[in-house]
Parts: sequence; C-alpha cells; structure tokens
Amino acid sequence: MKKLLVLMAIAVIFASCGMPIKKHAQESTGTRLFATTDSVFSEYISKFEQEGKKYYGNDFKVGDIPVNFGDTGNPDFDGVCIMYSNGTREVLIKKEWWDNRGVTSKEMMIFHELGHCRLDKDHDDETVPVEHGTVKVSLMNSVLPSATTYIQYKAGYLAELFQSTKEVLKNLVASK
Ligand SMILES: [Zn+2]
Repeated sequence: MKKLLVLMAIAVIFASCGMPIKKHAQESTGTRLFATTDSVFSEYISKFEQEGKKYYGNDFKVGDIPVNFGDTGNPDFDGVCIMYSNGTREVLIKKEWWDNRGVTSKEMMIFHELGHCRLDKDHDDETVPVEHGTVKVSLMNSVLPSATTYIQYKAGYLAELFQSTKEVLKNLVASK
C-alpha cells in the first residue's frame, strides 16, 4: 500500500509528454484545432527562438506551430506535439498542469514540445550516474527533469536540445 502511494505521488509530481500512440490514425483523419497561439505561451516561444538563434542563426523561428491548451489525448501526457498528415503541426498543453507550475517547468515543457514539433526530435531517456542517483541528459526525456536540475545544467540541456551534443551537460555533471 505504501509503495502504491509513493508511485502515485511520483506520477503526480513529474510531467510527462507523449507523442500520441495512435499517431497514424490521427494523421490520416485529423485537422488542426487551432490556427494561432494562445498569448499565454508567447514568452516561452520567444525564449525558444532566442536560444535557437544562437545555434541556427537570426532567421530561426518556431513558425506555424500553434501552442494552446487542450486535451492531450492521454491522462498521462501533460503536453503533446501532434503532426497531421496534411503537414501541419500543433502543440497542446494540459491546462491544469500549466496552472500549477512555475516559470522553469513551463519553459521546459514548451522547449520539449517544440523539440518534437520544431526540431523533429524524439524522446531520449539516457541518464548519467551521479553520487546520489542519476541525471537525465536530455530535455527530450519522456519525463521532464526537475526544475532544479534544469537550472543547474541549463547550458548542457540547451546544447543537447539545439545541437544534439551531450558533452556540455556531461562535462557540467562531471565538474560538480
Ligand atoms: Zn515528448
């Protein structure tokens, strides 16, 4: 019983993201729910573009990928990137998750979903061992790192996200 409670607590604490499992069904019949982005997300999208420009140059933009609150299609997913068969894409974020999170977690969530939708990245669940546990090496982990870990190794997470290099983060972890 105690173990079950612990597991339930973990499920509540960690944000997870998933690509829809029945992606093909959605691709064949779905159309995008939104044409524009909810302004709630604008500052996070701007941050993503600012970071992206450091790696891809000043022309880097998120482009036509609306971000909005919506049903992620799975109770375990707090955010999703949906890719439709007509070539359009959009990000949906669960509102009750968003409303209960701080700025750092919100940034991680938007960066993760745009990692899928804008950078075409898949999940990467690699970790490196540290003294008392492990550190996730990618913001594209299917469960987001903690806000504290993200802040501590942010330069490494951004290098991994935009350049697919894990060396910056691994060096930071090793130097702690
Ligand atoms: Zn994801």
